[in-house]
Amino acid sequence: MHVAIIGCGISGLLTALELLEQGCEITLIDQKQAAKAASWAGGGILSPMYPWRYPKAVNQLAQLGKSLYQYWNQKIQPLSGIDFEIHDSGMLIFDEDDFEIGLSYKAQYNEPMQHCDLLDETQLRNLNPRVSNTFKQALHFPQLSNVRNPRLLKSILTYLKSHSKVKIIEHKWVEKLLIQNQQVQSIVLHDQHQIKADQYVIATGAWSAHWSSQLDFNIPVQPVQGQMILFKTPENWLPTMCMYNVMYMIPRRDGHIVCGSSMAELGFEHRPNLKTQQSIYQACIQLIPELKNFPIVQQWAGLRPSSPDGIPYIGLMPEMKNLWANFGHFRNGLCMGPAAAQLLRQLMLNQTTLVDPRPYDPSLKFQV
Ligand SMILES: Cc1cc2nc3c(=O)[nH]c(=O)nc-3n(C[C@H](O)[C@H](O)[C@H](O)COP(=O)(O)OP(=O)(O)OC[C@H]3O[C@@H](n4cnc5c(N)ncnc54)[C@H](O)[C@@H]3O)c2cc1C
Repeated sequence: MHVAIIGCGISGLLTALELLEQGCEITLIDQKQAAKAASWAGGGILSPMYPWRYPKAVNQLAQLGKSLYQYWNQKIQPLSGIDFEIHDSGMLIFDEDDFEIGLSYKAQYNEPMQHCDLLDETQLRNLNPRVSNTFKQALHFPQLSNVRNPRLLKSILTYLKSHSKVKIIEHKWVEKLLIQNQQVQSIVLHDQHQIKADQYVIATGAWSAHWSSQLDFNIPVQPVQGQMILFKTPENWLPTMCMYNVMYMIPRRDGHIVCGSSMAELGFEHRPNLKTQQSIYQACIQLIPELKNFPIVQQWAGLRPSSPDGIPYIGLMPEMKNLWANFGHFRNGLCMGPAAAQLLRQLMLNQTTLVDPRPYDPSLKFQV
């Protein structure tokens, strides 16, 4: 079976990996350089921030993310030569209003990823002496990890590019789908070149509303900009991820600390601006004052694919026989990515699914 996948972010690339494992032939197409959009720009936290603020359908995919990434890292690292570092740093949350909610969430679900304890001041200082003295307590999630998403993408891409059954076409915008009898016959690039396959997957992230006019129903996915700043500190300088007021600091082992992030609806504007960068900087210094002694080495913005409830669209598109969706992951596409791709592969190949597919089913979610 030949599958054409539109979009080379984490959703498209992991879908390609899943289908390749089952013997499919893959063509991936991206309007720009592959793997440089939201999936590159994200932080790589392998959990929704404050999981209790998200629907079950988001959490159940996210909880599978870490173990599936461990599987993929082991499998493709020898071939790609890249370790994308699943860093078990744990997470501290400092929002007092969330302490009780977090503890009862843990008791209710009893999932390893949601295990947490409320730390007193001494425990907090012992675990993370970098945190400002103004914080006296924190909720600690010891099992939460982060992944180096730019390396993750590079590793998958390197592996896919070396595979004889994969073709990757970059810098080509897919303009339209040629549809007959509810079947996509081919996809048409902006230069009018056509690509034919047996099955087609839309993994176009924040650009997914592009398909609304052609499919004749509204796809409510919009870009929501998020900005980040990157500090460089000595190796293993910050012992844990930290979160306060929806702002987070994510330490990588080599001392890079990814900090963000903002939320703004600015269309497809992908440049960071000074005002937002300053407010992220202030939030970082409030939590970890010593960060002001270290340089900011990079700043950027990315476009999250928002969907109304944050639950992605995964499955067959309404009234279509060979057009599939894997988009709309909003703030959690990196942690949901591996399970979302696995679910899509299972649906496409008529296999038993690892989770109930209904909450993600485009036919149930779109009003056609
Ligand atoms: C600042 C920030 C922080 C984040 N932090 C986290 C986090 O810590 N944890 C987490 O789980 N998630 C996080 N996210 C969210 C996560 O990054 C996204 O949900 C995820 O990357 C979406 O992946 P995607 O593959 O669907 O989209 P993208 O990575 O945007 O990929 C879509 C691709 O499709 C291509 N494309 C679109 N339309 C067309 C077309 N017509 N023709 C050809 N190509 C097309 C685009 O060029 C793009 O490369 C964050 C996002 C941002 C911006």
